[in-house]
Amino acid sequence: MKKFDVVVVGKGNAALCAALSARDQGVSVAMLEAANVEESGGNSRFAGGVMRFAYSSVEDLQQITDIPDDEAKNTDWDSNTTDEFYDDLYRVTSFRTDPNLSETLITKSHEGMVWLRTQGAKFVPNYGAQSAIVNGKRKFFGRFPLTVNGGGAGLVEDLTRTAEKKGVEIFYETRATSLLYDGKHVGGVRAKHKGEPVEFHASAVVLACGGFEANPEWRTRYLGPGWELAKVRGTRHNLGEGLKMALEIGACPYGNWSGRHAVSWERHAPEFGVVERSHDPYRHSYPLSIMINAEGRRFVDEGQDFYNYTYAKYGAEVLKQTGQYAYQVFDAKVRPLLKKEYGGRNVTKFVANTLEELADKLEGVDAPTFLKTVREYNAAVKQNVPFNHAVRDGRCAVGIEPVKSNWANTLDMPPFEAYGVTCGITFTFGGVRINHETGQVLDLGYEPIPGLYAAGEMVGGIFYFNYPAGTGLVSGLVFGRVAGNGAAAAVKLS
Ligand SMILES: Cc1cc2nc3c(=O)[nH]c(=O)nc-3n(C[C@H](O)[C@H](O)[C@H](O)COP(=O)(O)OP(=O)(O)OC[C@H]3O[C@@H](n4cnc5c(N)ncnc54)[C@H](O)[C@@H]3O)c2cc1C
Repeated sequence: MKKFDVVVVGKGNAALCAALSARDQGVSVAMLEAANVEESGGNSRFAGGVMRFAYSSVEDLQQITDIPDDEAKNTDWDSNTTDEFYDDLYRVTSFRTDPNLSETLITKSHEGMVWLRTQGAKFVPNYGAQSAIVNGKRKFFGRFPLTVNGGGAGLVEDLTRTAEKKGVEIFYETRATSLLYDGKHVGGVRAKHKGEPVEFHASAVVLACGGFEANPEWRTRYLGPGWELAKVRGTRHNLGEGLKMALEIGACPYGNWSGRHAVSWERHAPEFGVVERSHDPYRHSYPLSIMINAEGRRFVDEGQDFYNYTYAKYGAEVLKQTGQYAYQVFDAKVRPLLKKEYGGRNVTKFVANTLEELADKLEGVDAPTFLKTVREYNAAVKQNVPFNHAVRDGRCAVGIEPVKSNWANTLDMPPFEAYGVTCGITFTFGGVRINHETGQVLDLGYEPIPGLYAAGEMVGGIFYFNYPAGTGLVSGLVFGRVAGNGAAAAVKLS
């Protein structure tokens, strides 16, 4: 048996933010991580590292990272005011996001980023992926001009170092299995360390151990038939165990339990993410493509919005197609604009000098229908509207089903390229209900369960149907801090 003031389950971004916040209040903190050291860090470790926080000026960004004054002045840094952040989050979640949780997320996002810097995290402008030169000036788009240095892996490494330095004890290969609960208070967790049972007693427990995205049985049960076939973009350790433990003692389920973040992903990617090559399977340049299925037909509006606002819902559309695959088709005009992963390793790709040749090469695609789809699409492109990939350019293809709302270019300049994709699941939206001010988990009567807190992917009620890119890490940051501070405050009162 081991005893701490606070036990945090998990070692991703949310757990680290909770542990650091609690530790800074002077309480003793243990972190339990199911994975071994090499595999630790959860989905956070796989994250690209973009973070969506509220800011209205470059000075706000300069509080988070050093930006020389001339660079600050000569760049259009875009903006993400609290109002813009609300608009985006409410729009993509079809106005279902919980008002209290979303207000906390948005209004505490900037101060969270500044705090994260004090904990050793480093940020850099995201020049490569989120900016372009427009009329001679660099312009950011998509509302997140900063990214974590070294991506999610860099973030986890930096925060782990700080946690160790501050005396947080981390127990690897220690999988929490159930909560110690006397019917009123949570007093710790039961865990298994390398197969041996061990109990961690604590005045407060923070569950920050992810959703159920890596569990094919739960995916099928809650997301629906076919979801067991999705590839997992991140860790194999998020099996829904934290949710199970909490529900077992009467926590209130909350949010979009059939919802998930899922993207177009390399068709032959492995079952789970590979941290050293976590970016290889990304296929986020589809707004410049037409996506076609086995029947040779388009099935989504590829250019409905920047990928930041559609990628998380389009994975599900790919999963619905025959054989759970599709092809993203480009021509030479847009090839230089594709993200670098398209030129990387382990890519399912076909290249041809004519569309007929490409149609013959595309495994499992109805060639005559594909050629007809391209002919109809080419004829529908509004060529009098100028193309500009840095704004929603309104260059559309209409009179066809589905329309393409932006960035429509005719497919007519060889070589033509087609990239095979399937569905990659990132995380699940269903979770438990928490108090937005303390992070405490609520019971079925909406009363707080003494001693139990939750953060990160485990919090239900924030995301419904869709997700604005860069919000997962910020949600873990904000609610990790809320839960860590809430747990430490409860320890001090006990
Ligand atoms: C490929 C990829 C790219 C992404 N890119 C971005 C991005 O650029 N920006 C962004 O904001 N978001 C991104 N995300 C989403 C983001 O990573 C997650 O939303 C976020 O990291 C979740 O943080 P978390 O701490 O809640 O969970 P996780 O980081 O997944 O941590 C969960 C932890 O719990 C542990 N665990 C699980 N079960 C147990 C148990 N029973 N006992 C003990 N430990 C357990 C796991 O091992 C892990 O350490 C990306 C995700 C993926 C997969």
